[in-house]
Amino acid sequence: MLELADKYPIISDMQKGQEVIWFNPKINCDETIDLTDADIEDARQRVERFAPYLKKVFPETAENQGIIESALQETPRMKAALETYYEKELEGRLFVKCDSHLPISGSIKARGGIYEVLFFAEKIALEEGDLTIADDYSILAGDKYKQLFSNYSVSVGSTGNLGLSIGIISAKLGFNVTVHMSADARQWKKDLLREKGVIVIEYEVDYEKAVEEGRKQASQNPNCHFIDDENSKILFLGYAVAAKRVESQLKERNITVDAEHPLFVYLPCGVGGGPGGVAFGLKQIYGEHVHCFFAEPVQAPCMLLGVMTGLQNKISVQDIGLTGRTAADGLAVGRASGFVGEVVGKRLDGIFTVEDNQLFQFLSLLAKEEHIEIEPSAAAGFPGYFYTQNNQNYYNRIGRQAMNQSTHIVWATGGSMVPKDEMKGYIEKGNILRKDQS
Ligand SMILES: *Cc1c(COP(=O)(O)O)cnc(C)c1O
Repeated sequence: MLELADKYPIISDMQKGQEVIWFNPKINCDETIDLTDADIEDARQRVERFAPYLKKVFPETAENQGIIESALQETPRMKAALETYYEKELEGRLFVKCDSHLPISGSIKARGGIYEVLFFAEKIALEEGDLTIADDYSILAGDKYKQLFSNYSVSVGSTGNLGLSIGIISAKLGFNVTVHMSADARQWKKDLLREKGVIVIEYEVDYEKAVEEGRKQASQNPNCHFIDDENSKILFLGYAVAAKRVESQLKERNITVDAEHPLFVYLPCGVGGGPGGVAFGLKQIYGEHVHCFFAEPVQAPCMLLGVMTGLQNKISVQDIGLTGRTAADGLAVGRASGFVGEVVGKRLDGIFTVEDNQLFQFLSLLAKEEHIEIEPSAAAGFPGYFYTQNNQNYYNRIGRQAMNQSTHIVWATGGSMVPKDEMKGYIEKGNILRKDQS
C-alpha cells in the first residue's frame, strides 16, 4: 500500500480520516459499453407495465398512477443556508431530488431493488403463468399468481434499505424472501420486515460478509433468485430509469442542459449500483453537459479508492486502514462494485468524502429550511455544491458564465421510512453540532 500512497497522495489524507475531493483526471464518456439506451428504455417500459399492479397493491402509488417517482424540489432556503455555512456565495440553482420520499420503501432502493424483483416476477409469470406483456398486470395480485410465486424465493444481502425494498415487494408478490442484514442495519428495518413475513438473518459482520452468506445459501436452491447488488445489470438499469424522469422534470421547469447551462448531480454512494445507474442514465442523455459526483463517508470511500487506483473491487477501505464504519448506514460499504467502477468510473467527474458530523448538520439544516426530512446517508451530497465552486481549477474549467447558469441536484437517497423518534434524534444531533460549530 506504500506505493499506492506515493502514486496517489490523496490516500494519505484519506487514511487520516480527512474529507477529500478527487476530480477525475481521465474522464471519458465516449468509451462504449455493453449497456445502451435501448436497455434503459426496456427497463422503463417494464416498470410502466407493472404500474397497474403497483397502483392496486400499494395505494400510496395511486397518486402517480403506480409509477414510483419522487419530486425534484428547488431548495432556495437550503442554498442560502449553505452559503452561510460555507461563508461563500454559491452560484446556480439548487434542487433536492426527494428519493427520500419514494413510495413503498422510502429510499433510492425503491428504484433498482423493486425493479429487479418485478423483472424476476414477470419472467416467471410469462413463462409459467399465462401472462402476456399486453395484459393489465394488476392480475398479478390474484391468488393464482401469488400461488405460483410462492414456489420461488428471493434473497439479498443488505445494509438495510435494499433489504427493505426487496423484502416488501417480494412478500407482496408472494415470494419467499430472505434478507441477510449486515451489522450496520437499523433495528427498525429488521422489525418491519419480520412483520411482513420476511426472514431476516442478522450478521455481526459487515455488508460484504452478509452478501457472501446470502449468495452461498441462495446457490443451494435452484428456485432462489439472489439479488446481487454488486454485479446485477438488472438492478443497475432499474436505477438508470431515474435519469429519464429527471429529464422530464427539468423540461417541465424549462431548465436547459447544455454547455452554457451545465447540470451537476451529487449522489451518495455505497456499493455503487444506485448512484452508478443514475449517473449512467444521465450521461446517456446529457453527455459531457452533466457533471456527476459521488459522495462517500470518510471511513468508507470504497468507490473513490477503487476508481482512482483502477483496482476497482480488488481494494477495500480496510486495506488502507479505514474502518468502513459510519452513521450513514446506507453507505457503510468497504468494497465497491467492480462492475459499476468499470462501467461508470471513467464517466464520473469526481468523488468526495464527508464526515459523519457534517451529515447530521446538513440533514438538520434541510429539515429546518425546507421541511424535508432525510437520513444521514442521504445528506452526503450537499458538500458537492460547495466543492465544485470552491476548487479554482475546476471552476475555471466550467467557466464563470456557465457556473452562473448552472443547475445542481443533490440526490437525497432515503429517509421517509425512518421512525419519528429516530428522525428526531438525527435532527437534534445536527442542531447541537451546528451550535457547537458557530
Ligand atoms: C443504498 C443507499 C445508497 C447508495 O446506493 P448504492 O447502490 O449502495 O451505492 C445511498 N443512500 C441510501 C439512503 C441508500 O440506502
